[in-house]
Amino acid sequence: MLIDYSDKELLVLQKISLSAEELGMPCYLIGGFVRDKILGRTTKDMDIVCVGDGIKLAASVSEKFTPKPEVHFFKNFGTAQIKTEGLEIEFVGARKESYDFNSRKPAVENGTIEDDQNRRDFTINAMAISLNKVDYGALVDPFNGIKDLELRNIQTPLTPAQTFSDDPLRMMRAIRFAAQLNFSIHPKTFEAIGEHANRIKIVSGERIADELNKILLSNKPSIGFDLLYKSGLLKIIFPQMVDLAGAEYIDGMGHKDNFYHTLQVVDNIAMQTDDLWLRWAAVLHDIAKPVTKKFEEGHGWTFHGHEVVGGRMVPKIFNSLKLPQNEKMKFVRKLVELHLRPISLTKDNITDSAIRRLLFDAGEDFDALMTLCAADITSKNKTKVKRFLENFTMVRKRCAEVEEQDHLRNWQPPITGEMIMEAFNLPPSRAVGDLKNAIREAILDGIIPNEYEAANRFMLEKAKELEIFRSNP
Ligand code: ATP
Repeated sequence: MLIDYSDKELLVLQKISLSAEELGMPCYLIGGFVRDKILGRTTKDMDIVCVGDGIKLAASVSEKFTPKPEVHFFKNFGTAQIKTEGLEIEFVGARKESYDFNSRKPAVENGTIEDDQNRRDFTINAMAISLNKVDYGALVDPFNGIKDLELRNIQTPLTPAQTFSDDPLRMMRAIRFAAQLNFSIHPKTFEAIGEHANRIKIVSGERIADELNKILLSNKPSIGFDLLYKSGLLKIIFPQMVDLAGAEYIDGMGHKDNFYHTLQVVDNIAMQTDDLWLRWAAVLHDIAKPVTKKFEEGHGWTFHGHEVVGGRMVPKIFNSLKLPQNEKMKFVRKLVELHLRPISLTKDNITDSAIRRLLFDAGEDFDALMTLCAADITSKNKTKVKRFLENFTMVRKRCAEVEEQDHLRNWQPPITGEMIMEAFNLPPSRAVGDLKNAIREAILDGIIPNEYEAANRFMLEKAKELEIFRSNP
């Protein structure tokens, strides 16, 4: 058998087949499920296409299970979904589509299975398996998708120009599948992406973000980003990233290509974490290098402040990419801002207070920051890498020691703003903020220990110095 179904999948398919037979509706398993099963990937989304009313078929299939799964349907789209046996099964009537130039929403009419396969994006996504009694289990593969699966090749079923012009999102999908499956895009298909790249402008930002996130979550995201870059799509959807590309030379001195450096950092981090936002921090860690770049005589290339400027760019980029403006964005911003800190500590300046500050500033994101920093070590210069790694190990060790002693990672100073207001009978005011900051700084600098008694004594002394007196109630 072509596909190795589980017992549950077989049971489900047999029931669907029976319902289709009863209703006299030809019916097929189609698309991603067929592709993934042949590839041996796990998948739980089954798409069923029938020549007829998909909602009716779903209702009939649901009747065949005890307990009966609920049928969720969308009358306007003629689609229905049931969840059973750990699978999400989507039913839809076969359709024929025709597109208007300015929209990716087609006019839809009922069609045959061939029509339905024609409207699919890639040959590997257009394969169907018959669930009809006469040829149950037969592969219906008009575009030889099976061959493309073997060759690990992505190409469109119709001419690439038509497929991409009809729905430009498919250009992003081609690259996403290449990244996820580690497939190549057929040269003619890839060429057409370059020619139609501008059409991506009619696709909503949310859809583009969805594909970008999937690319970023693949095992080796550089594959997808490099294809986005080479096809010209990246320049349109995320120009700041393209600005990282290339190396400039003055007086024979060049700097590294920050685009490819970034891709390597992203691949490095992808080996350590599946956290989408930590991966975004890797994409954005050097994003301000182009705007902060300077050539300084006798010094060479500098990118002073790129971490701070980069941090400021994060909310703007998230906004333009339709990524969320919530705590995830703040996390990415914080990591971009702090990404040089651990590695900039060298033997001579790893003081307790520098370590305390790092722990305090990174807070609960300390481990994420260290993961980003380790991924950022990409130099080809072996001595440099060795030095960085040594520093890095030392910083980690010292952080663990200081953390053990001071517990600063999720730290709240022992004297709160409320306590200060009460001690001096003050309303919320600048004086309260000044005192609170002074106490925090004194603890971080190791002037006083991280304890209530010491902090309270320090507060009273500092208040005298700042001429803050208790006002009478
Ligand atoms: P994944 O679940 O990883 O996104 P998938 O191939 O299952 O992969 P879906 O978006 O669930 O992708 O789509 C299911 C099927 O519908 C695809 O395999 C393809 O046949 C078809 N399809 C989806 N989007 C498009 C599109 N924009 N143009 C043409 N066909 C599409």
